Amino acid sequence: MSVIDLRSDTVTQPTPGMREAMLQAELGDDVYGEDPTVNRLEAYLAGRLGFAAALFVPTGTMSNLLGLLAHCERGDEYIVGQQAHTYKYEGGGAAVLGSIQPQPVEVETDGSLDLERVAAAIKPDDFHFARTRLLALENTMQGKVLPMSYLAAARDFTRRHGLALHLDGARLFNAAVRLGIDARDIAGHFDSVSVCLSKGLGAPVGSVLCGSSELIGKARRWRKMVGGGMRQAGVLAAAGLYALEHLVERLAEDHANAARLGEGLRALGFEVEPVQTNMVYLNAGEQAQAFKATAAERGIRLTAAPRLRMVTHMDVSAGDIERVIDFFASVRR
Ligand SMILES: *Cc1c(COP(=O)(O)O)cnc(C)c1O
Repeated sequence: MSVIDLRSDTVTQPTPGMREAMLQAELGDDVYGEDPTVNRLEAYLAGRLGFAAALFVPTGTMSNLLGLLAHCERGDEYIVGQQAHTYKYEGGGAAVLGSIQPQPVEVETDGSLDLERVAAAIKPDDFHFARTRLLALENTMQGKVLPMSYLAAARDFTRRHGLALHLDGARLFNAAVRLGIDARDIAGHFDSVSVCLSKGLGAPVGSVLCGSSELIGKARRWRKMVGGGMRQAGVLAAAGLYALEHLVERLAEDHANAARLGEGLRALGFEVEPVQTNMVYLNAGEQAQAFKATAAERGIRLTAAPRLRMVTHMDVSAGDIERVIDFFASVRR
């Protein structure tokens, strides 16, 4: 019985084509700027998203951290979603390592931050306050795609208030595929964008921060300082390049599988949040722990959160989704 792992889209194994690309990658010392494959990945993604420069880093956490450190100085502040990864799930890195104060704001049901609330959180120019410098958004946000009209409004808003605009685009390509648009149309609204290669794109390691040459220059310095300068990193960058060239369009399959899972569960009478991309949220309540344990016996790996998140990815097939629906049918009584 094959295992179906729905805990996250980070659990994927590199495909044979990806492994071959890693094996064949031309390598050099990237701290000297001499790894041709890293250079190719950075130039490729910067170009594809419409930025002047990009930086390959080990993780999305580091990519977001370097973005914040490059935009903000000690004593500055960034406004961010209360439930956003860059606030809640990155160990407080910006505060710990950058002396940058986060100002969290509650996230709206569509994944956006209400711009009136953000405006109210911006500090006046007064020495009592931290200097508000940056607004950080996330797209997709818990599987939700931010509306394009909202991105335009956020861009306009931040310009008016003299703030920079950063996107945690860990799943930027899921958003673009869902909307049927070029990822550049989303990225173009931002001063910097962080993209994860190791989520739905299926690479084993890596994220890329994109921005202006000046911003990426600062981020490169910070990357060295926090220990993220890697040597023959092209072996990893090759996987990311392969993913960007071959595995973006197939994200639509993950979205279709998630939609089918959501429908199947709803038909069984479960409470399921609307599905937009590759995440399905089921209100499992007190049954979450029991679901996890029983599912494990059937080769299905779940988390035990009451708001149970199930994530589709390239190692979950349409047939697997039917197996998962059958499992939930069996525990539904
Ligand atoms: C996974 C994730 C990150 C961080 O990526 P890591 O590589 O796990 O550090 C950042 N933001 C979002 C929205 C993520 O899902």
